[in-house]
Amino acid sequence: MSKGVLFVISGPSGTGKGTVCKELLANDDNNLFLSISSTTREKRAGETEGETYNYTTADKFKSMIENNEMLEYAVYSGNYYGTPKKTVEKMLAEGRNVILEIEPQGALKVKSILPDAVLIFIIPPSMAELKKRLVERNRETDEQIAARLEAAKWEMEQAQKYNCIVVNDELDACVGEIEEIMRGNVQKRAMVDKLLHEKY
Ligand code: ADP
Ligand code: 5GP
Repeated sequence: MSKGVLFVISGPSGTGKGTVCKELLANDDNNLFLSISSTTREKRAGETEGETYNYTTADKFKSMIENNEMLEYAVYSGNYYGTPKKTVEKMLAEGRNVILEIEPQGALKVKSILPDAVLIFIIPPSMAELKKRLVERNRETDEQIAARLEAAKWEMEQAQKYNCIVVNDELDACVGEIEEIMRGNVQKRAMVDKLLHEKY
């Protein structure tokens, strides 16, 4: 049996990663398995232990790092987030394609360990639209949204290091473009420099 492909999806908070991944997973033809990360951040309303994340303490997270159980991890907005190695390795060995929905520090770490991983960066159509999506999602406080927009500046600068950049303007088009990439038709679209110079 041939091994599955590891797809890493990143992009600033609010760009639509979760929404896009849900659509990708809903299509059985994509043969996708979504890796569930561990995190020390608090569980939010509407989230489910073991489905959204495995929620854990900083001590337990640190012991997973020490025991070499993490494929990658990062600190984002003051919390640990990481990908447990075991399930990802098992699924790839079974021929499943695996998605990691993770931020760029971790994504670039994955690329350095597993150079065959396909890194996809989802950008918003504009930084103003990114802010609007974060505000209208109504999940974080104003302060947390400001911190996420601040983090977005560095994150957008990492986009050029990815295999592909996809704009999430119209959802179906974005999902279709990622499915094309997953079928091996890779196209790089760069609007990143333009967006980085926009005011928001
Ligand atoms: P992320 O996982 O990147 O933080 P989400 O998937 O939670 O982002 O999306 C952020 C918000 O933007 C959500 O309210 C979602 O419904 C909305 N959204 C996602 N994709 C689009 C799109 N193509 N057009 C308009 N709104 C979108
Ligand atoms: P959120 O708090 O919005 O759920 O996630 C914050 C950020 O952490 C998002 O960019 C998300 O993609 C990223 N993230 C989630 N899980 C992981 C992980 O396992 N590793 C890394 N490096 N980032 C993650």
